[in-house]
Amino acid sequence: MSSMPVYCPVCKGKDTSTWSVAKDYEYFSTDEEFTYYGCDNCKTVFIHPVPHDQLKKIYPSNYYSFVNKSKGVVVRLKEWLDKRFFKNILKQLPAQEINILDIGGGTGWIPDILKRSDNRIRFTQIVDIDEKAKSMAEENGHAYFEGPIEAFSTDKRFHLILMLNLIEHVADPLVILQKAQSLLAPGGMIVIKTPNTDSWDARLYKKSYWGGLHCPRHWVIFSAANFQLLLQSTELKIKKLMYTQGAPFWAFSIIAAWYRRKIVHVSATKPLIFHWSFAPVSALFAIFDFLRRPFAKTSQMFIILTKEGKTFES
Ligand SMILES: [Zn+2]
Repeated sequence: MSSMPVYCPVCKGKDTSTWSVAKDYEYFSTDEEFTYYGCDNCKTVFIHPVPHDQLKKIYPSNYYSFVNKSKGVVVRLKEWLDKRFFKNILKQLPAQEINILDIGGGTGWIPDILKRSDNRIRFTQIVDIDEKAKSMAEENGHAYFEGPIEAFSTDKRFHLILMLNLIEHVADPLVILQKAQSLLAPGGMIVIKTPNTDSWDARLYKKSYWGGLHCPRHWVIFSAANFQLLLQSTELKIKKLMYTQGAPFWAFSIIAAWYRRKIVHVSATKPLIFHWSFAPVSALFAIFDFLRRPFAKTSQMFIILTKEGKTFES
């Protein structure tokens, strides 16, 4: 039996309701069920209790950010879209020389792409807990700090800080935001990618299994409204918030549902991302979300943050 959470990690509200009860359908790292609560006040969704003491188990050695990515058509298309997206962001930075920090950046494949598209980039820093990514990141010319961002310190300030699919993995997202804020150069931007609970697939699948939970590895999951609330105790403000396709979440939700109904066979030793149906289902929903994006909130968000005013603390 798990105890009721004491308070919401965003608004500290004490009234919560069970939002979803889920298992690890992606890696089958444990048979345990985990409870996600929704805050009655601000609607933030969070896991409780936080499985702090199970990190080795719930991030197995075949965890996909630790594994070199294959270059299928979907991956290539995604890389092309990412490149276009980040090129647009770089264009908005007025600095003559740009330092980039990628928190949770692994081998640094995004800074690699950025360096090729903008010759103002002088320094790229990766901070990641993955010891296996270090040598490849350094070979590609990035500085690498192995450890959590809270433990990282430097005199450098960064014009672009990337936190892609990161903030939902930590128990106290405010600490991470405040740290990023302290490392931001004047006029710099923080780019966050994170799931959105205020989406159709989240509502549709939370009663069974929603892929955006990435259970039990996503600990705090936002919507645009409660993310805004989180920023109140920082100097950061939202410059832009865009919804982007949630194809992997649709695919995990659907394949997990097929698996429970015994429509497909799923290997307990092979991550679900390598299941034969994952690529076609996610390709289909990438198109679906792309088409409905002008009218609907999809299940992933890109949030661009800047520091309020012109004050700069070092
Ligand atoms: Zn709350």
